[in-house]
Amino acid sequence: MDANLLVINCGSSSLKLAVFDSRHRKQASALAERLNSNDAFARISASEQPVQLPSGASHETALSTLINALKDQAIMANDPIAIGHRVVHGGETFREAALLNDESIAAIEDCASLAPLHNPVNLAGIAATRSLYPSVPQVAVFDTAFHQTLPARAFLYALPEAYYRDWAVRRYGFHGTSHFFMAQEAARRLGRTPATTSIISAHLGNGCSITAIRDGISVDTSMGLTPLEGLVMGTRSGDVDPGLFDFLADKGISAEEITEVLNTKSGLLGLSGQTNDMRSLCDLADHGHEPSALAIDIFCFRLAKYVGAMMASLTSLDALVFTGGIGENSARVRQQALSHLRLMGFQIDSELNEAHGAYSQGRVESSDSRFPVLVIPTDEELVIAREASRLATSSPV
Ligand code: ADP
Repeated sequence: MDANLLVINCGSSSLKLAVFDSRHRKQASALAERLNSNDAFARISASEQPVQLPSGASHETALSTLINALKDQAIMANDPIAIGHRVVHGGETFREAALLNDESIAAIEDCASLAPLHNPVNLAGIAATRSLYPSVPQVAVFDTAFHQTLPARAFLYALPEAYYRDWAVRRYGFHGTSHFFMAQEAARRLGRTPATTSIISAHLGNGCSITAIRDGISVDTSMGLTPLEGLVMGTRSGDVDPGLFDFLADKGISAEEITEVLNTKSGLLGLSGQTNDMRSLCDLADHGHEPSALAIDIFCFRLAKYVGAMMASLTSLDALVFTGGIGENSARVRQQALSHLRLMGFQIDSELNEAHGAYSQGRVESSDSRFPVLVIPTDEELVIAREASRLATSSPV
């Protein structure tokens, strides 16, 4: 029986597990959703058999239920050799993945005020897994770590400097695991080494961010102190005028409500009044729903503006890379966004674009484009599995 690596991603109401073999090939994934609610459910990808979860199941219950199911179905018969956890915020403490022990866990707890919705639930998953597997090495891989190389000009807000000194108010950036994977994979596909490859990486899923990567290193990114800044997203506004807060407060809307609206009722959902889902939005637009067409237009225009902004951090560009559910699958979004960037020399080939990329490289640019444009499926779980295996074998617990 091959040794396995287990990857765990604890979200606010969901839990995702992935099992990799020791050669980093994915064996199975498992998912629990709507946790802590009456209709909590779970399933394992490689199996037809449903996994029963009690109503109102917590993350801890879902974790032990899914791990038992993986064992029963002989997908993970033995204890894993290492476990990797996705952790959203590593603050300025974590510049790379870290082996979990009492000290690193305390440091993750210290970062919780920067990500109050995410880090506590990530920590709950870590605690539950540690009690299930006390002697298996466990590793945290942070969404923020890849962006710790940002220069001060890119990470500081133009605010009183005491805010940064006393409260660590700065831009951190997120989706770092995905952008890191893009840097590695784009270089590989272009026949280059990551350390000499510069790309702009656009991760477009429910959350969206774009990163300038110079010689393999993140030098600017669109998300900031929180994952709210930057691009238009499924339900998040991205950039707005900070003066909006005072304006809305005057209308009697509380700070909590404003934050809630900007995070969960804005973006594609807010603009269209219908859905946060790009695929449904494209269908609606095709059937003449004008607010949906406008939502797509605004999404693409903001994206194009940010591609331009990322150019300020680069001296050369080897590729613009699209990833995430929208970036990988929506030819329309790629085409519409790049139509604003002809002046910069981006040209897309419609046939290649409709096919989501040609050749093994996933290229969609036309022959007269100044820069290659690539479509690359992201694989954050693979990065976490690799990091778990690397750190578990290189350091004592
Ligand atoms: P998450 O950030 O939750 O991981 P994903 O990366 O899966 O999300 O991206 C989800 C988004 O991708 C949704 O808006 C969905 O509509 C969009 N998407 C998936 N497939 C397509 C498609 N074929 N065309 C357009 N959008 C798509």
